[in-house]
Amino acid sequence: MEKYPIVVIGSGAAGLVVANGAAKAGKKVLIVEKKHWGGDCTNFGCIPSKSLIASSHIAHAILSNGSLGIHAHSDRFSASDALERVRKIVAEIRSEEDKPALEKNGVHAIEGTASFVDPHTIMIIDRAGDIRKVWGKQIVIATGSFPSIPSVPGLDITPYLTNETIFDLKEIPKSLAIMGAGPIGCEIAQAMRRLGSSVTLIGTKAPLQREEPEAQQTLVDRFKEEGMELYIGYSTRQVAYEAGKFQILLQEKGSDKKVSLQSDALLIASGRSPNLESLNLSNAGVVYSEKGISVDHFGRTNQKHIWAIGDAAGPPFFTHYAESQARAVLTSLLLPFGLKKRLNPSPIPRVTYTDPEIASIGLSEQEALTRYKARSIAVYKVPFTKLDRAITAGRTEGFVKIITKKWSSKILGATIVAPRAGEMLMQIATAMYAQIPLRKLSGLIHPYPTYSLAIRKASDLWLTQTVLPTLKKYIGKSP
Ligand SMILES: Cc1cc2nc3c(=O)[nH]c(=O)nc-3n(C[C@H](O)[C@H](O)[C@H](O)COP(=O)(O)OP(=O)(O)OC[C@H]3O[C@@H](n4cnc5c(N)ncnc54)[C@H](O)[C@@H]3O)c2cc1C
Repeated sequence: MEKYPIVVIGSGAAGLVVANGAAKAGKKVLIVEKKHWGGDCTNFGCIPSKSLIASSHIAHAILSNGSLGIHAHSDRFSASDALERVRKIVAEIRSEEDKPALEKNGVHAIEGTASFVDPHTIMIIDRAGDIRKVWGKQIVIATGSFPSIPSVPGLDITPYLTNETIFDLKEIPKSLAIMGAGPIGCEIAQAMRRLGSSVTLIGTKAPLQREEPEAQQTLVDRFKEEGMELYIGYSTRQVAYEAGKFQILLQEKGSDKKVSLQSDALLIASGRSPNLESLNLSNAGVVYSEKGISVDHFGRTNQKHIWAIGDAAGPPFFTHYAESQARAVLTSLLLPFGLKKRLNPSPIPRVTYTDPEIASIGLSEQEALTRYKARSIAVYKVPFTKLDRAITAGRTEGFVKIITKKWSSKILGATIVAPRAGEMLMQIATAMYAQIPLRKLSGLIHPYPTYSLAIRKASDLWLTQTVLPTLKKYIGKSP
């Protein structure tokens, strides 16, 4: 049985960081991948979805150009090549992360499904059914997550799609129903709509539950404007598939109202669960739940030589979070004398890549109100109806909202709704990371006319919305 100082299970965002990093540092490291080198982000997640979104932006710009004073007419619109483009991009990125690429970096790589035999022994079964065993001194579990499928009568015998199959479609479906209005459902819904599909989005709750209500509303308004049908507050009662069509029966929550829908394709995007089943964690004595593997501040499981990172360790499910955990664990594995690096405690930015993008970090207003007294926090909001850049671009639907401690202006959280909100959010994330209070951003010269100027305007509000009115109240007049 071959022995390795480090064995990594899973070659997604998290596993790749550890395996490549350890090999670069001269360690003998083995990575085991069940099937899809590069994991979810590359094969079925971030890369295909963002590639499709890029095409959908162009489709939207071509088809909705009248609002900016351009009138171009074409009698032919086809977006089917967009899916082929997605697959080409996935293949290109995967070629940097597959077995040959890893081996070139000095990583030992085996394709097969790994499971624990005991706390140090891993059994690997390849596609031909051949079995081999390896011994790992340190073992890193990075097995990701899979789409959870709700138990709806009839669904299991229909050819529904998930994020693992939708990017294999040869054509944009004429009509597409999507169950689940989280980030994945919303992103794919808008992209497919813009690429010509009649999209129906079904959610038991408002889209993007985690986000501020006004961000949710902006997205709902935008989706409706773009011709999407929304059933929010509805649950799916039954699904059938007959003569190439899905029949979907919905029921409004808290009422008897039922709606019957028909669509050519059905995407299930109703949540994700950590991928733990095949691991036989009980053989290793590792504690876990359906939410993920429990880890300490360093990313270690209850077995101190077994680590868990990325989606396998539970939500939030983001590539950047998986990579951040992986970087900390990699450092711990490389440090001498048993020294360890803590997982990064910084708040994790969240971005949903709809148009406009919804980006947020830290606490929402409601969460801040739950945690602190209302009088000790302040909320600063700049709507884009007051922002020159947004006005010139015809994109006034967005806003910047920042929540702070009232007097110190320490940033507790922020939400940005804008065409490139994810990029803008990093100014706030940097300030939070470096513990720069919001009021100090007021002194930063922001280029005119950027969308980011809205952040300076929000920081100006500390003076005009919080300090001056209070001075006026106690001194009797503004200074
Ligand atoms: C449609 C979609 C869009 C997304 N968009 C974004 C985005 O824009 N930004 C963002 O930050 N995040 C996004 N995510 C989330 C992101 O993809 C995941 O958080 C990220 O891939 C997690 O990385 P990971 O390494 O933990 O797991 P994964 O990337 O899932 O990798 C785990 C790997 O382990 C392998 N594996 C599992 N079990 C075994 C086993 N027993 N033996 C061997 N190998 C095994 C799997 O085959 C897989 O390749 C998106 C997800 C989806 C589904």
